Amino acid sequence: MVGRVGDDHFGSTLLDSLRRENIDVSHVWHSSGISSGLAVIGVESSGQNSITVIPGANGDVSPDDVLAAEDAFAGADVLLLQFEIPLPSVLMALRLGRKHGLKIIVDPAPALAEVPAEILQCDVLCPNETEAEALTGRKIVSRQDAIEAARELQAMGPNCSIITLGENGVVLCDGPGSCHYIPPFDVNAVDTTAAGDAFAAALGVALAEGQPMLKAVRFASAAGALATTRTGAQPAMPRRDAVDSMLN
Ligand code: ADP
Repeated sequence: MVGRVGDDHFGSTLLDSLRRENIDVSHVWHSSGISSGLAVIGVESSGQNSITVIPGANGDVSPDDVLAAEDAFAGADVLLLQFEIPLPSVLMALRLGRKHGLKIIVDPAPALAEVPAEILQCDVLCPNETEAEALTGRKIVSRQDAIEAARELQAMGPNCSIITLGENGVVLCDGPGSCHYIPPFDVNAVDTTAAGDAFAAALGVALAEGQPMLKAVRFASAAGALATTRTGAQPAMPRRDAVDSMLN
């Protein structure tokens, strides 16, 4: 984990919860005089959510911070990037990831219409519907729209493009003319917050283990589905054994 927290109570709580999960936080720095990044999340009775993001210290993560974490890249298999930190820092991470031969997953969240072309030259680009619409300018209503958008995204540079469609599953394009639909797991969703984060993280785990792409996407879909069965973001992240038993 490379990032920053503020000098508020949230910062120490966040670091403590990462440490409890044995996550290396030696590359998470403190910014003073600023809050930690926060997301205020409203959830409808249907389980759908609306998120207001306050970037706080996330906005302070600089390319130099990323460079200072190069030893973490050197020992890693997969780099998972998203856009809650400034794009120049994302670019620095991408370059270090390439230098060290990592598989690079870009979760282009929150949605941006303009993304530097270099960021799309990754192994896997995995937006949700809204982010895919922002990148392609294409409205996604049907599964066919999603497949066409994924095909268009794949042509922009990544080896694979994936669009997550919430309760409607996932589309994956892993080559020109090679697109697949992966149906969702049937769960009782109470809060969809963090489904995309669980999906992206689990995809990283599966690819680090060398699973083939379709199998990795199924693994990630199980993690995403399980995350919707509990409220909250971090507390909703499923354990490995729960994902494995859903797949079985
Ligand atoms: P985000 O949180 O980024 O909007 P999604 O809502 O698309 O991401 O969820 C990511 C993935 O999690 C989906 O593609 C799907 O595999 C799984 N998922 C999300 N919501 C549900 C649901 N209600 N039922 C089953 N699986 C779901």
